[in-house]
Amino acid sequence: MLSKCKFVAGVQDKRSLPDFLVPEVAFAGRSNVGKSSLINAVTRNRKGARVSSSPGSTRQINFYLNEGVLALVDLPGYGYSKASKESASSYMSLVEHYLLTRETLHRLVLLIDSKVGLREIDMDFMSWLEEHCVHYSLVLTKIDRLTDREFDDVLSAVQGRVEGCCMLLRPIIGTSSKSGKGIKELVHEVSKCVKE
Ligand code: GDP
Repeated sequence: MLSKCKFVAGVQDKRSLPDFLVPEVAFAGRSNVGKSSLINAVTRNRKGARVSSSPGSTRQINFYLNEGVLALVDLPGYGYSKASKESASSYMSLVEHYLLTRETLHRLVLLIDSKVGLREIDMDFMSWLEEHCVHYSLVLTKIDRLTDREFDDVLSAVQGRVEGCCMLLRPIIGTSSKSGKGIKELVHEVSKCVKE
């Protein structure tokens, strides 16, 4: 269902946000979490989202429209230390503006690198989402780098953090853009949440 996604806009300031009226699902996470690779995997697009060799280089919000019925939104990665303080705060203000005002936003998908686990910056971001009542789902990326046992451990740790959190929508999905594991399940969840 997401294979018809086409890049339609890259936005760097609040005034340029597109005025689509279709449901949106946004993807966020730390720089280098595997967000571009995952967006390419769910859209089955080899060149849709740019896979960066330099972490933190995507400083804008990218919109991908799927046949006029759904938009995938690629938010800039956070937590990359080489970004200057000034540019970091200006894009965070763009992201905050988007998350707080976007009426068509149905779900935020927050990516966590399964090999790295939850970092303080992720927990701060989750607390911010909860405080502002932004519904989010968690996806663990790059699970091809873990054994089943390691995956279970990281999943339990993450589940422990979000236990009782009503802003999180379950399930927590493990994905690998390399092996394709979990991609179908994620596409299913994304397609389902726009019907909610
Ligand atoms: P972004 O900065 O979050 O958009 O991350 P990218 O998609 O650019 O990926 C960052 C790095 O992680 C790249 O070197 C990718 O090849 C690697 N990567 C992304 N997804 C996977 C995955 O599922 N498995 C593995 N092993 N590596 C991945």
